Order: sequence, then structure tokens, then C-alpha cells
Amino acid sequence: MEKLDLTSVPVVDNHCHGIFLDQGFEDIASWRGAFTESTDPGMARDHVATTAFYRRLTRTLAGFLGCEPEEQAVFAARSEKEGREFAATLLHAANIDTLLVDTGFPPPRDVLPVPDFGKLGGCGAEPMLRLEVLMERLLGENDSLTGTGEALDAALDDVRAQGYVALKSIAAYRTGLDIREWPRDEAEDSFREYKRDAEAGSARLVHKPLLDTLLHVAFARAARQEVPVQFHVGYGDADTDMLLGNPLYLRGVLQRPDYRGMPVVLLHECYPYTRQGGYLAAVYENVYLDLSYGIPLLGYGEMLAFTRAALGVAPASKLMYSSDGIVVPELHWISALDGRRVLGEALGEMVSRAELALPEAETAGENILRTNARRLYGLG
Ligand SMILES: [Zn+2]
Repeated sequence: MEKLDLTSVPVVDNHCHGIFLDQGFEDIASWRGAFTESTDPGMARDHVATTAFYRRLTRTLAGFLGCEPEEQAVFAARSEKEGREFAATLLHAANIDTLLVDTGFPPPRDVLPVPDFGKLGGCGAEPMLRLEVLMERLLGENDSLTGTGEALDAALDDVRAQGYVALKSIAAYRTGLDIREWPRDEAEDSFREYKRDAEAGSARLVHKPLLDTLLHVAFARAARQEVPVQFHVGYGDADTDMLLGNPLYLRGVLQRPDYRGMPVVLLHECYPYTRQGGYLAAVYENVYLDLSYGIPLLGYGEMLAFTRAALGVAPASKLMYSSDGIVVPELHWISALDGRRVLGEALGEMVSRAELALPEAETAGENILRTNARRLYGLG
């Protein structure tokens, strides 16, 4: 079989998060916690170490650190290193062109600021604006739905001039991707309910008619500016209702002719809905599919399977690499290694089957890892 060597292609990591300022972990279980989406305490303690992802991570890290491929040895070797220096070594080894950072989580006070993150990795770093965080702030500052909508509209005036390369929505986590248009009185009721809940101490925006209504304000703005909007889709922690995380629920948004100027990026290969996401990228001109190799935390075979599925249905010009790395630099690093390797193998298979010529496959690999994102987000 043809094997493509993409190891020297720098990646644009089109969706990731910051890493903790403090990279010290008091014990193995707390470090393991960075490699699961489960918040159940027994998972990190008893089960994470047996996942395919974690086995591959510890073995690959052992090779990098020059220690035994055992969890204890890897954790000890990692803990000996100065946190930032260790992060810098991993990020440089990952050969990153640019990091696009979702600044909505973890809270900015806990993570390396975006420019410092780039400096540490010897790469570019650009922030993205999480819509729900902005909405919650504006809801706290306004006492009517109309006022909040106008404030949101104003806050999203010229997103790029404010330094953001994209918007991000976690509607899938909050109220589902079936983002609807609500009668005004229902949206007003929802606003009042939000205010009551906020006064009682919970300012979390989980009020569907209100969130949907505000999202439409944001989409209109994004469409006019042709600013990409990233949607969390599929795999996440137990907070997300995976039934409502199916990208097919976005039809109501995708069918709006006035939103066609808004590039829609479906994150995390929509796992496990990769085929559905790939279908949308094949049918709607403005839909792109993100291929994330850090999180979801998968075994090699499963990464190869979703990559084949994506390449099999979506145009290669619509696919973009990411890590969804968060908290620790190990995720940003191993994702870059795995992404190049998996993509090289899946494209190599297409060459073997004479679906692609070798130079075409090489170009597709470079585009998915780097060039498609540079173009879509207007980097440099
Ligand atoms: Zn993310």
C-alpha cells in the first residue's frame, strides 16, 4: 500500500484550548483526568489507564522522554521537567503553524494567554470568541431582550477587527443543535426565566428560546462579515445530550439563504456522527468538517475509520485538522503526530485503489493539515 509521508507538514490546529499555567499534577490520577471527558471520579482512578488512547499516549510519550513505556515512569519523567519548558518542547516537536484557541474554556485566569501560548510553541496563535460566554455577560448588563439583542449585535460588529478569527457556539451542550426561530412572546418569557434563575444564583444560559433567539442575532452578523462559526458537535462530557448533538439538527440554520455567507465548521468530526457531518459538508457550500485527533480520545483504528469516512464523502477542500487539545500540551502534541500519520495512511489507501494520484493525495494532505484552514480563517 502507498504510504504518504506528511510528517514534515506544519499543522494549523483550527480548534484547541489553552493549557494550564501550572503544569504540575499532584498524582497520576489527577494527570489521567486530562485524558477523559468523564467527570465521574472512578473513571480516572480505575478505567482511563486501559483506554486505547491512553495506552498509545503513554507509550509515545515514553519514546519522547526516553523512559520505560510504563505509566509511572512516564509520569515521573514528565513531573521532573519544568512545566513551561516541557510544554515548549512538545509544541515545537508538534511542528505547529498556528493555534486557533477557543478562549471560552478553561477560564482565562487558569491558562496561558493566547499570545504567550504561540510564543511558547514558536507558532502563530489566534483567539476565537465563544458566543455563550459573551451572551451571559450581556444578559447580566441588560434588562430587556431587545436591549440584549442590540448589545450583542453591537458587540459582534467587525469581529475580525476585534482580533478574533472565528466565533464558537456550544449550543449542543446547552439546549441542542435544533436551533429554532421562536415567537417573540416565548423568547420574552424565556428571557424573564433566565433573569429569575440568574438572580437565584445560576447565570448559565440553558434557556432554549432565549439562546436560540440570540444565536440568530449572531448568525446574521457572522453571515454579513463572512466570519466562520464553529459548532461543538457530538462527543463531549456527560453534560451534552448526544442525541441532540447530531449535526443533522442544524438543517434549520443551514437552509436559511441569508446565512449562506457564514462558514459553518462542524467540530470533532461530529463523532460519532462523522458520516452525517461529512454529508452536510458535501451538500452545503458553506459547511466544513473539522477532523480532531486529540479529543475525542480514540484508538488508532477508530481515528482511521472516521478519517476514511470523512474522505469518503466530503470534499477534501472542506476538511481541516485540529487537536481540541486542552489543559495539557500532551494533547496538542500527540494529535499532530497522530493526525499526520492517520491522514497519510487513509490517503495512501486511496492512492492504492487508484482513486487519487500520489501528488493529488500529497496536496490533499497538506490542504487538510494546513492550507484549507489558512484560507478559511484568513491567516496571513
Ligand atoms: Zn473544544
